[in-house]
Amino acid sequence: MQQPRLMIAKPVVEGLKSSLTQEVAEFARRYRRSPRLAVVLVGQDPASVIYTRKKGEMAVALGMEHETLNFPGTATPAEVKAAVDRLNADPNVDGILIQRPLPKGFNEEEVLYWVSPEKDVDAFHPVNAGRLMLGLPCFQPCTPTGVMELLKHYGINPAGKIACVIGRSSIVGKPMSALLLQANATVFQCHSRTPDLPRVASQADIVVGAVGKAEMIGADFIKPGAVVIDVGINRRADGKVVGDVAFEACAAKASAITPVPGGVGPMTIMILMKNTLFAANQRSSKGLS
Ligand code: NAD
Repeated sequence: MQQPRLMIAKPVVEGLKSSLTQEVAEFARRYRRSPRLAVVLVGQDPASVIYTRKKGEMAVALGMEHETLNFPGTATPAEVKAAVDRLNADPNVDGILIQRPLPKGFNEEEVLYWVSPEKDVDAFHPVNAGRLMLGLPCFQPCTPTGVMELLKHYGINPAGKIACVIGRSSIVGKPMSALLLQANATVFQCHSRTPDLPRVASQADIVVGAVGKAEMIGADFIKPGAVVIDVGINRRADGKVVGDVAFEACAAKASAITPVPGGVGPMTIMILMKNTLFAANQRSSKGLS
């Protein structure tokens, strides 16, 4: 079998950086202000601290403004909600995101409603999640949209293909299936209760792993020639960061595969930036800022 195509994010990220930099500059010329992203971080989860910093750095690199609100892990939900309410009401803020995971004591379901739908650049608010399911214009779910951009860049059209999404979280699995369905794939939505996963997944032309279990997806999940997308980010006991896909074994059967790191991961932040600019354009064109 030939070597699979390695679907790395770098060229897609570079292209998006350059187009977004131009679009942000055009926005600033037109509206005499820059799009502004606010990130709310509660506690000091090490991965969250890094992700939050990277989001701010990317916003600045593209010419946007950003602020991070840092709360100690002891902050109460009421304190954090009051700050989010202020950001919702602040005409200078276009996009708001609340970094997950939140400390115990926060009701995840309730938090989904905190950021107003017009500023919900993570696309987690039930209004945006619902609009996505209905195929209505909405913010794009960051990680799944990043996957779609990667597929597009590498010339893989899901139309008419069988796609198998493993994982059904609200953040990745479900919106991933919705986007693949919109792109005319036939979608198998698999999860922890799916019996005989390898039998189901190995029928698919595109396999997306979004499970959160290091290297769980082995060669027996992969049909020869399938496209393999690895959303997982897992730190192994030896400190190495790996995906949900056993890379070497699956690469031996795949026609194209994403690496971890350097595959899906860097795309997420770029879609977040696109959403922030989209929010800014929507708000400014309606005279809301
Ligand atoms: P989650 O824990 O919320 O959901 C995991 C899903 O996997 C669940 O729906 C569950 O049903 C399913 N699952 C669990 N065990 C399973 C099993 N043995 N077989 C089949 N399905 C099983 O996780 P999430 O937020 O969707 O994240 C999934 C992975 O993607 C994690 O590794 C996370 O770190 C990573 N992630 C990456 C990015 C990125 O930017 N690349 C963004 C978000 C999440």
